Amino acid sequence: MPIRVTVWHEYRHEKRNEQVRKLYPDGMHQTLATYLKTLGGIEVRTATLDEPEHGLSQSIVDTTDVMLWWGHMAHAEVQDTIVSRVQSRVLAGMGLVVLHSGHHSKIFKRLMGTTCNLKWRDEGGREALFVTKPGHPILAGIDDHFVLEHEEMYGEYFDVPEPDELLLISSFSTGEVFRSCMTWQRGVGKIVYFRPGHETYPSYHNPQVLRIIGNAVRWAAPVDGGKVPEGCPNPSPDWLKTKPD
Ligand code: ZN
Repeated sequence: MPIRVTVWHEYRHEKRNEQVRKLYPDGMHQTLATYLKTLGGIEVRTATLDEPEHGLSQSIVDTTDVMLWWGHMAHAEVQDTIVSRVQSRVLAGMGLVVLHSGHHSKIFKRLMGTTCNLKWRDEGGREALFVTKPGHPILAGIDDHFVLEHEEMYGEYFDVPEPDELLLISSFSTGEVFRSCMTWQRGVGKIVYFRPGHETYPSYHNPQVLRIIGNAVRWAAPVDGGKVPEGCPNPSPDWLKTKPD
């Protein structure tokens, strides 16, 4: 079965800023979708903020195995009912890959339960991302470190819960450091945060960045479609008498 991916994008900067439009003429979501389609075994849809229900109708969400999320200037415009819909689906097994400024999205803050605040400065300095968990599937094909010549700086402290896994640490030319790729599980859903992707830099054309996003999609896909026990059962102890298969 192919992995059914929905790339969700705010899609506002490209409409207002010529520099961003030059980098992503059809929007970042299309750049990411085009890459994911080359990988095979993945079905890709896109959804954007200004579509009805932000492109995330119940049927779209219910038939999504992994969702990507990029937002920035319009986090507040995302309806709480849609956030709850996506949250429920994550708890039931959908993977969620949160990108860059998505750290302040309603859905990420809801799932983390913390402010998700961080330090930032946009002066286009150099970012070096170092592997802290060699051999992890999300880092397949990434050797020790890679460099983005121009990116926005994000610095610690990043107010998120202790992650299940810390996969990358960034160092910036101005000396700050940042936990750039982390994972958590909520319910049976796997969540990945991956830092690069400021809209005025070509990070979503970088092969290593794309590779990690593709790996994250495969890693976050639900196993067996996700399985969540319903409610709080009160079973009879007779289950102990069940004979082994
Ligand atoms: Zn940014």
